[in-house]
Amino acid sequence: MTGAEAGGPGGPGRPVSVHSARIVVPMTAPPILDGAVAVQDGRILHVGEHAWVVDQLAARGLAFTEHHWRGALLPGLVNAHSHLQYTGMAAVGQGQYDGFDDWAKAFDVEYEKPHDWRAEAAAGAAASIVAGVTSIADIVTDMEAASVLGDAGLGGVAFWEVMNWENAAWEARGRDQVVAELERIPAVPGVGLSPHAPYSLDVSPLLELPDIVRQRGLRLHLHLGESAFEGERIPTDHGERHEDWHFAGVPSFRALRELGFGASATSFVDRLGVLGPDCHIAHGVYMTAADRALLRARGTAVALCPRSNAVIGLDPPPVADYLREGSPIAIGTDSLSSSPSLDLMADVTALHRIARAQGYGALDLHERLLAAVTLGGANAIGLATGPDRIGHLAVGARADLIVFDVDARTVPDAFAALVEDGAGRASATVIRGEIRAQDGALLTKEAHD
Ligand SMILES: [Zn+2]
Repeated sequence: MTGAEAGGPGGPGRPVSVHSARIVVPMTAPPILDGAVAVQDGRILHVGEHAWVVDQLAARGLAFTEHHWRGALLPGLVNAHSHLQYTGMAAVGQGQYDGFDDWAKAFDVEYEKPHDWRAEAAAGAAASIVAGVTSIADIVTDMEAASVLGDAGLGGVAFWEVMNWENAAWEARGRDQVVAELERIPAVPGVGLSPHAPYSLDVSPLLELPDIVRQRGLRLHLHLGESAFEGERIPTDHGERHEDWHFAGVPSFRALRELGFGASATSFVDRLGVLGPDCHIAHGVYMTAADRALLRARGTAVALCPRSNAVIGLDPPPVADYLREGSPIAIGTDSLSSSPSLDLMADVTALHRIARAQGYGALDLHERLLAAVTLGGANAIGLATGPDRIGHLAVGARADLIVFDVDARTVPDAFAALVEDGAGRASATVIRGEIRAQDGALLTKEAHD
C-alpha cells in the first residue's frame, strides 16, 4: 500500500527526505532560489523556498534527513524516444552516413549478429539513469528487452514495435499475433505499440494498430518524417498527383508514391486515423508547415532527436518552426545505433544550436528546451497528468529529481549552463525518492523494490 492510499500525503511515521539546492526548477511554477523539495513515500510532499519547506515539516511534526546539492535541481529528464536494446550497437552509431538507406544497411548487418538484448538494454538503462534520465519511451523490437524499464526502476512506456506487415498477412495472422505479443509486455511502468513507420506497414495494420491500443487505453508511437522519402512532393517537382488519394484503393504509402501521389507520410497516416493526443512521433524532420499543423491539430507531440539525425546524414529538425508555431515538442536520444551517447542533455544542446542557426532569436529558448526535456516528454507519453505524474515538481507528483552541477548564482546563468553545456554534468538522479546515481556512478537499487 502506498502512502497516499494509507491516508494521504504527509502522514507521520514514514521517513521524509529533503533535497535542497541553490536553484530548484519546478517547470510548472517559477524557478525558486534556495529551494527545497520534501519527499515521502516516493512522492513530493512540498516544493518551495527551503525555509518554508522546513517550516511546513516542523508544523506537522515531521522529522527529515536533508541532502543539500550543489547547482540546480530539476524534474527527472524524460527521454521521449530511444531503443535501449540497441545499446550494444554503438559501432553503427559512431559512423557517419549519407542518409537513411545508407545507415539502414549498416544497421541491418549489426542487428543480425548475435545479441543479448536484455543485457544490452540494461546497460542502456544504467547509462540513462547516470545521465539524469528517469523515464523513457523505449521501443522494444525483441521480447527479451521488454522488461528493462521495470527491472531498472525507470518510468515511461515500453512500446512493442510492429513492422513489415503487408495487408494479406496482417489480415490472416498479424492482428492476432500482435495482440498476443502485446499481452507479454510487462504492465509496469507502461505499455504501448509502435507501428514502426508509414513505409514499413501497409494500410490494414496502420488502420488497426491504433484501435488495438485505444481499446486498451495504451499509448501509440511511430517514426514519422525521419527519411526524406516521407516528405511531401510539391506539384512542381515531378508532376505529382495531388488529387485525393484516399479513394484510390492505395494499399500502402510506398504504393501511393509509385502511383504518383505527392502526399506526405504525415498526411497519409493522419487520413488513416493514426495521430491523436495518445500518440507521439519521433523525429519529425521532413515536415511541411501543413504537416506540423496536422500534428498540432491532433495534439500529437514530436520527439526531436537531432544527434541521431546528424549521424544518419539527415537534415536538422525544424525546431525553430515547432517553437514559433507552438507545437508540443519533446526530446529523445534515439539509440546508440544512431547516436554517440544516451546523454539527453547533449541533444538539448544540439537543439539550442540548431534553433539559433534557424533564426530563433527569442529569449525564452533555454526555458523552452528545458521544458521540452522534462514536462514536454511527460506530456508526449501521457504521463504529465494522473496519479503517477512526472516531468514537473509539484505536490503529489512522483519524486523523480535530478541535480546538475552548474553555476547556479542566477537563474539565467543556470539555464544557459544547463542548455548549452549540460551534458555530463548530472550529479545526482533520484527516482521515486531513492538516490539511484551520484557523480557519474550508479548506486545499488534498494532490495525492497
Ligand atoms: Zn528510433
